[in-house]
Amino acid sequence: MRRTAVRLYKNGYSTMIDKKIDNDKFDSESGYCRMLGHEVSFSYCRIAKNNMPCFKIMDCWFDRLPIADYMQSNYSEEEIEKIIEKPPSKITTLYDLIEQAKKRAANNKT
Ligand code: SF4
Repeated sequence: MRRTAVRLYKNGYSTMIDKKIDNDKFDSESGYCRMLGHEVSFSYCRIAKNNMPCFKIMDCWFDRLPIADYMQSNYSEEEIEKIIEKPPSKITTLYDLIEQAKKRAANNKT
């Protein structure tokens, strides 16, 4: 359970309310994960990224669960934007790691 502020949009108006949400209510649902290549449960998807949802949670679950409502009920708009932000590619990450190693090596020589 989590207590959170939720923005509701109705007839063009928005309202902030406090609401208790059962954020583990879909944990028993499961589906095929294209990134991992096997079945995963929703309980994994909602904590896959450092205890926050996987960035693909909206894409993977939209046809089976009311995932947009779930996300809006459990996370702020700022959190959702961060959650669904696409992570850097592996090549970019690898390139960054190589650059960092080069800098460390250069600093150790001086
Ligand atoms: S949300 Fe992420 S972990 Fe879950 S099935 Fe989709 S890609 Fe896999």
